Amino acid sequence: MADSVLVTNISELVTFEPLTRSPYQALVTEEDLGIIKDAWFLVKNGKIEAFGEKDGWKSFAYKNIPRVNAEGSLVLPGLVDSHTHVLYGGDRSEEFSSRLEGKTYEEIASAGGGIYSSVKKTMEASEEDLLSSARKRVKNFLSHGVTSLEIKSGYSFSWQEDLRQLRLLNRIKEESLQTICVTALPLHVLPKEQSAKNYIKELVDYFLPIVSKEGLADFVDMFIEEGYYKTSDCEPFLKKAKELGLGIKIHADEFTRGGGSKLAADWGAVSADHLQHASYEDKKALAEAQVVATLLPGTSLYAKIPYTQARGFLEAGCQLAVASDHNPGSCQLSNLPMLASLAALHCGLTAPAALAAVTFMGARALSLETKKGALAKSYDADFLILPFHHYKVWIASFGEFKPKQVWVKGKRVI
Ligand SMILES: [Zn+2]
Repeated sequence: MADSVLVTNISELVTFEPLTRSPYQALVTEEDLGIIKDAWFLVKNGKIEAFGEKDGWKSFAYKNIPRVNAEGSLVLPGLVDSHTHVLYGGDRSEEFSSRLEGKTYEEIASAGGGIYSSVKKTMEASEEDLLSSARKRVKNFLSHGVTSLEIKSGYSFSWQEDLRQLRLLNRIKEESLQTICVTALPLHVLPKEQSAKNYIKELVDYFLPIVSKEGLADFVDMFIEEGYYKTSDCEPFLKKAKELGLGIKIHADEFTRGGGSKLAADWGAVSADHLQHASYEDKKALAEAQVVATLLPGTSLYAKIPYTQARGFLEAGCQLAVASDHNPGSCQLSNLPMLASLAALHCGLTAPAALAAVTFMGARALSLETKKGALAKSYDADFLILPFHHYKVWIASFGEFKPKQVWVKGKRVI
């Protein structure tokens, strides 16, 4: 039988089955992990067919299904990273060194560094260079157990360049072992030779119709921040994206309270990301609109900015995901297990919540919660066999150990 396997001798299988029955639940406790001890599960045609404990698997063993002995290991759903920027040219190592010498962000930007240098290097890079560097990064995510990830365009001064990046991302999507979601982020940096308003009009009239017609993106995104895009400018773009059936994600309230959270709630975004400066009303609005609040602790670590605190979001009733925000300037990490541990320590997530944040909640933040981020019946068989016995050991180990095996849709890929 194609893509079918029986996995036995599992010390602890985390299914998240309770959460699959309650997909908008905010608070995650150990009960929600749906842990089965001394477990087994059966994969049929790339999907979870059955699971149970002890030797219940024996009734399936005669059907010529290959068997994998997990040798007493922990099995988790494949991890889901719902926010990355892995397609870019060049690097920002000079800028990193300048920061170590005490240069400020403004000084770096005025010397031609910062995000604008990534835009320039990406626009100058050949398709082959962009593809080969992005492929390496995507593969590195896989080595850490990330079986689904989102990638954004956005290192562009023009919508034509953004389309080029989206087309490259779709090539990666087609060939990748992982499941890739593509997000169009033309509203990342301000255009060079026109006003934001004019640029957005062109995006509405030309860019979004092409994106929709060619099926180039699953989501659109925008950087709502002082000195970048304002909420009022973005509304025509959101209206058109919504009409075309594209999902919405928003970079919100990172450096100031720019209104991104409220915009996300008003427009039914699937997630709002960063959120250091979201107010209690913002958190309430996100919860009511079932927008996933996505914490990006790697950016806080790397760029030395405050960590978004989970508590207020949970009190307001928000679901919380954790993602890497992998990008050339403010976070080079792709070790999502390490970022889950970092979020637990510095954002205030419990161990079950941190695990959910990089699996089921990550899937929620990509509208994939009916097939990814859990190992319940009929979910995709994306799973990790880890060198631990218990999920608490996984979260305490801070991403130090890679998975022993990684499987995607019932196929072993590592
Ligand atoms: Zn980002």
